[in-house]
Amino acid sequence: MRRKLIAGNWKMNGSLVANQVLLNGLKAELGHPACTVAVCVPAPYFAQCQTMLSGSPVAWGGQDISTHESGAYTGEISGAMLKDFGCAYVIVGHSERRSYHGESNESVAQKVVSALKAGVTPIVCVGESLAEREAGQTESVVSKQIDVVLAAIGESDVGKLVVAYEPVWAIGTGKTATPQMAQDVHAMLRSRLTIKNAAAAKTVQILYGGSMKPENAKDLLAMTDIDGGLIGGASLKAADFLAIIKAA
Ligand code: PEP
Repeated sequence: MRRKLIAGNWKMNGSLVANQVLLNGLKAELGHPACTVAVCVPAPYFAQCQTMLSGSPVAWGGQDISTHESGAYTGEISGAMLKDFGCAYVIVGHSERRSYHGESNESVAQKVVSALKAGVTPIVCVGESLAEREAGQTESVVSKQIDVVLAAIGESDVGKLVVAYEPVWAIGTGKTATPQMAQDVHAMLRSRLTIKNAAAAKTVQILYGGSMKPENAKDLLAMTDIDGGLIGGASLKAADFLAIIKAA
């Protein structure tokens, strides 16, 4: 059985004071969670996470990574920098970066390569828009997104990925895919991974993201191929995030 992973995506939220309250709230109530727990935070707070979370059951990570290793790339964050601050994970290809920053399947694939090179686990986000779902294109869009990533990495790297299926229409909207809708896409994603490396595909955690909250987490997490959640809004409230962790 795959261990579940519950990862928070704080997006561009937080402050030193608010983070301290949130992380202390998590640490106080977490105990020994049955799943892996992580928070993906804005880069200025990596040091705070490293100080507050080292030795705790909560891992931390970033929300983006440069395709470059170093140099004249103003504003970018390299894999080595993530590693320097103990980041275990980095979100790659979130739909907000795809739509607001023009990230293509190809640049997302290069970012995955950067993360793997640095030894940071990429959480590779894929997902269709509402128009694409309504046009019956979910499978073609999502399989293309993952296939471009798989084409850029070696067979032996498949097991180092985390994949997050995040239907764009469910992110921050309060609309959630039904457990069966999500399961269908997760199973399809696993079949794409299987083509590249069948043994590794069985171990890859495929997370669901899109308005996951305490009320719907249990049913989503009960599905065969849903191995955890990437949680936006609900990861900013300790009680909600803890309730999702408990559901896993
Ligand atoms: C996300 O941003 O990755 C996300 C899933 O957001 P929310 O949970 O708020 O829909």
